Amino acid sequence: MKPPAFEWVAPDSLEACLAELIDSDGDVRVIAGGQSLIPLLNLRFARPLRLVDINPRDELAAITTAATATGYEVRIGATVRHQGVLEDAALNDVCPVFAQAAIEIGHLAIRNRGTFVGAVAHADPHGEWPAVALALSGVVSAQSAERGERAIPAAEYYLGPYSTSLETDEMVTAVAFQIPRDQSAACCEVSPRRGDFAQAGAVAALSATDGQVRSARVALFGEATGLRSLSVESLVGASLAELDPRAWDSVSIRLCAGAAAGANQRLVEHVVACALADAAGQRARAAAKEEQ
Ligand SMILES: Cc1cc2nc3c(=O)[nH]c(=O)nc-3n(C[C@H](O)[C@H](O)[C@H](O)COP(=O)(O)OP(=O)(O)OC[C@H]3O[C@@H](n4cnc5c(N)ncnc54)[C@H](O)[C@@H]3O)c2cc1C
Repeated sequence: MKPPAFEWVAPDSLEACLAELIDSDGDVRVIAGGQSLIPLLNLRFARPLRLVDINPRDELAAITTAATATGYEVRIGATVRHQGVLEDAALNDVCPVFAQAAIEIGHLAIRNRGTFVGAVAHADPHGEWPAVALALSGVVSAQSAERGERAIPAAEYYLGPYSTSLETDEMVTAVAFQIPRDQSAACCEVSPRRGDFAQAGAVAALSATDGQVRSARVALFGEATGLRSLSVESLVGASLAELDPRAWDSVSIRLCAGAAAGANQRLVEHVVACALADAAGQRARAAAKEEQ
């Protein structure tokens, strides 16, 4: 299959990339890894007149992880590949859910080209990164030539499947996360084969101070549910040490009511319980280590 004709430009500065998007009304699109956009062009589901290639922009290629008073601030630039996220030791040291999710994405060739930010921008409800952005309360940095930068919380960024609040003259330059020191997160998914998009997936982020759950959030993704995120209020105040693993099942069942039916519901319950149990286990182990 061949794409419709389009112009391709690779401007030599970020400002010039943004200038391309002014008044574009969707006819000019950013291309990052091309792992979602090129198939869409080939299938003629998208017909942009011009593609703005941001790959040469070195200023967008970094992952930074910096300590703050309450934890860590992580920032992932727009040309960082999935494999770059997977292999970033500093990032995965403070928040291993990034590596856990990245390894589930496609195959090595796709992970070497596709970008974290491209996947966040694309808003595929089957993708891991939008769910990570929601569960970890990520903030999307959107930049335009005329209005500068604005920060969009992930919960406000996602409007529906493949639909976001990004304006047509805006580009996502990075996604940032504040990772509290007392937070652990985990990703669990079920897919027909390794590397396929998930049938059901969940990312859980859980904070606990002095052995008590302070907050818990789960974001669902995949065929069974699409992208949705929920705060698990029923766990707040629970004692981490005394949480019976069976409690995860009842939380999952309540969370999943209405999200999916039949066999799919059981898959969703399973991934939610796994992600919550994994996040809680990580938190309990980290707390035990801190006490030593
Ligand atoms: C065989 C196969 C298997 C895959 N499996 C998975 C999987 O298991 N999980 C998963 O999550 N993904 C999967 N993908 C998709 C892959 O992860 C893509 O890399 C990702 O969804 C999009 O990233 P990209 O950099 O390739 O974006 P592109 O394809 O370049 O762009 C996608 C869309 O986002 C927009 N965009 C990109 N970057 C920006 C930006 N900085 N600012 C504004 N808009 C931007 C583009 O204009 C376009 O509309 C798979 C893809 C293939 C081909």
